[in-house]
Amino acid sequence: MRLKDIFYTAASPAVAVTTFDYLTTSDVVQLSAIVGLGLAFNLFSMHQAQKKNALPDKSKNIRDKSLPYYDVDLSKLSELRKKWQILKNELPDDVELYVSDNRKANGFAFNRGIYLTTPLINELDMDKLEYVIRHEYSHIKNNDTYLLSVPFSLNAGCLILSFNPYLSGQGMLYLTYLAACFSGVFLTNPWLSRRFEYRADQEALQGSENLKSAVSALKKIHSINSVHDIFSGKVNSKTSSTFSTHPTLKERVNNLKRQFC
Ligand SMILES: [Zn+2]
Repeated sequence: MRLKDIFYTAASPAVAVTTFDYLTTSDVVQLSAIVGLGLAFNLFSMHQAQKKNALPDKSKNIRDKSLPYYDVDLSKLSELRKKWQILKNELPDDVELYVSDNRKANGFAFNRGIYLTTPLINELDMDKLEYVIRHEYSHIKNNDTYLLSVPFSLNAGCLILSFNPYLSGQGMLYLTYLAACFSGVFLTNPWLSRRFEYRADQEALQGSENLKSAVSALKKIHSINSVHDIFSGKVNSKTSSTFSTHPTLKERVNNLKRQFC
């Protein structure tokens, strides 16, 4: 499911109520119900998309042994297959591992799939790859994608409602409402996303019980990538900005080390 679909499913019911020219308590109840319905529909749509397990472009299930396999080192690939066989014993049957053709060293989770990009497989040893796999599995297990869509949907509905003539006539109250909507959209999601990253790092470490590999996996990914990306966040800053979806390398490493204190 694309971001714009999430927005439309949440926002479209709210559009219908922007023509109200006054609001009573029962209207507020109705509005809440409408935004709630939008949210429920959004979650249902995401659930359906997850069931289909749609495959991002240029990705191949690691069980598929037909060649060519992008530019992955084939000996690393066969090592990774063996590692995946072992890890699979701990994971639900429907979780799959994919090789994704991409220029960046990255790992990500999509639906019930864990995706490792070609440079990541070529550059990281098996212990570090195990850490990345466990990190991505934590996102799947905890439904992080679903949960991130909740505040987004609510805030999207909230912003659409701001076009309501009654609300827009409320002076300072209206400005406060708008500020709350915008801060919800721009602050809640990045904040929540950073919390999920910390949790995924911690759960990956609990599973692998290998602090050295966990830390060096994070450092290695940072050293390969020179710009902000999905897995590694910003490279050179010491603390994450309010708007960034990932903590910095330093923050993530400290988070991991705290678990061993
Ligand atoms: Zn992550």
